[in-house]
Amino acid sequence: APQSLYLGLDFGTSGARAAVIDDDGRVVQDVKMTYEDNAAADWAGAWKRVLFELIGSLDPAVRSSIKSVAFDGTSATALLVDPRDGTPLAPPKLYNEAQAKDIIVAAKAIAPTTHTATAATSTLCKLLTWWYGTGDGGNWRQVASKRGLALPGPGSGATVAATALPQPLLLHQADWLAALLHGVYDSGVTDWNNALKLGYDPELESYPSWLMEQPFAPLLPARVVAPGAPVTTLERRVAGETGLPPDCLVCGGTTDSIAAFMAAGVTEAGQAVTSLGSTLAVKLLSTTRVDDAAYGVYSHRLGDVWLVGGASNSGGAVLRRFFTDQQLRDLTPRLDPDRPTGLNYYPLPCPGERFPVADPDLQPRMVPRPDDDAEFLQGLLEGISQIEAAAYSRLAAMGASPLKEVVTAGGGAVNPKWTAIRHRLLGVPVRAAEQGEACYGAALLARQGARQAAPKTGLTASA
Ligand code: ADP
Repeated sequence: APQSLYLGLDFGTSGARAAVIDDDGRVVQDVKMTYEDNAAADWAGAWKRVLFELIGSLDPAVRSSIKSVAFDGTSATALLVDPRDGTPLAPPKLYNEAQAKDIIVAAKAIAPTTHTATAATSTLCKLLTWWYGTGDGGNWRQVASKRGLALPGPGSGATVAATALPQPLLLHQADWLAALLHGVYDSGVTDWNNALKLGYDPELESYPSWLMEQPFAPLLPARVVAPGAPVTTLERRVAGETGLPPDCLVCGGTTDSIAAFMAAGVTEAGQAVTSLGSTLAVKLLSTTRVDDAAYGVYSHRLGDVWLVGGASNSGGAVLRRFFTDQQLRDLTPRLDPDRPTGLNYYPLPCPGERFPVADPDLQPRMVPRPDDDAEFLQGLLEGISQIEAAAYSRLAAMGASPLKEVVTAGGGAVNPKWTAIRHRLLGVPVRAAEQGEACYGAALLARQGARQAAPKTGLTASA
């Protein structure tokens, strides 16, 4: 029999990537594409083209053995669409687009104060911008009206409830891409992780009452599944066009940073993944849930444990200000982790920090600069490592499970001297992740979904 393969699709900030894995988690094929230069003129169109190009670039034999697929997208990237066919009614609002002050005030008036849905870039704030039609949020109503959709808005409450016309629908990037494959739009399918910044409560496994009682509640995606849960099979037309098997299962997705976490393969409370990319992000598996919007700390549900995370403004971007990656490689052999420089830097690309200290005016501390570049680099790496250690201490102080082990992802993971510095400061084992790509984490979700669906057929067969 042909082998069973699982496809993970990652839609990141600059491009998209696909990984196909087998039952043992081995990567069978891995392809990558950047968005075209003018993608910003039509993000949704660019994502759609790249999706079908990525699938089309897989070996035909690989493609025809794919049993399931799962997506990750950038967190809080949102679309407002026609619920009949998914056509966007307005340009998507991207993960990093902060909404206006009055919108944040409106979000704070309905959500609990420390909720991540009250952050300026949250999905809830993006939905509110469309709902109130402020700034660039109003243009979709003309498009929706031409398409014969209901035109809900502030003050139209009773009319909305009474209308038989289809309502506009909010989807996240990963939801929308998955729907391009399975073709089910009407109810709106999303997952616990993507829906968190909309206000979804993964503990209750429902939207909370403060959200459901809002007049815009009919616009929310109604079916919120666990990441990796089987959703449905491919739309027949899509199977024909892509060469994917018609019974290929589309599974619940997640966000890009959670997919990257999943790729590292940690499973137990106390295990953590530090991402040393452009920014420094820490994520810890915890038996307890920890949320504090003031620090940008919040918890995602992964099965029965919580994934507690926070991100500093420090990270590799500061290193790039001073050194090329080649210079980093050349200087690294001269670092001596056992002899700390004592420089006590707080490296930041610009003033302001969110976590482990919340201080919008915090000044970078990167002076005095020693004449020796190796010593300067060591000081910077020690400074970033101190921030990492403070981040884990802060999570522990907030009530998260104690730290047992740190797995490292991102560009800094390859540096053995930095790993030694971090081991000394963190006091727990530190190692590099074998897999750090988000698409690999998405492929693991797809495999999980296929396995979840499989026992049912087994039972039917033996009955
Ligand atoms: P992102 O995807 O967040 O942009 P990457 O995971 O690709 O980032 O990591 C890039 C970062 O890794 C850069 O900021 C760079 O400074 C850092 N980096 C690259 N090589 C090394 C190295 N040998 N030692 C330490 N840091 C490195």
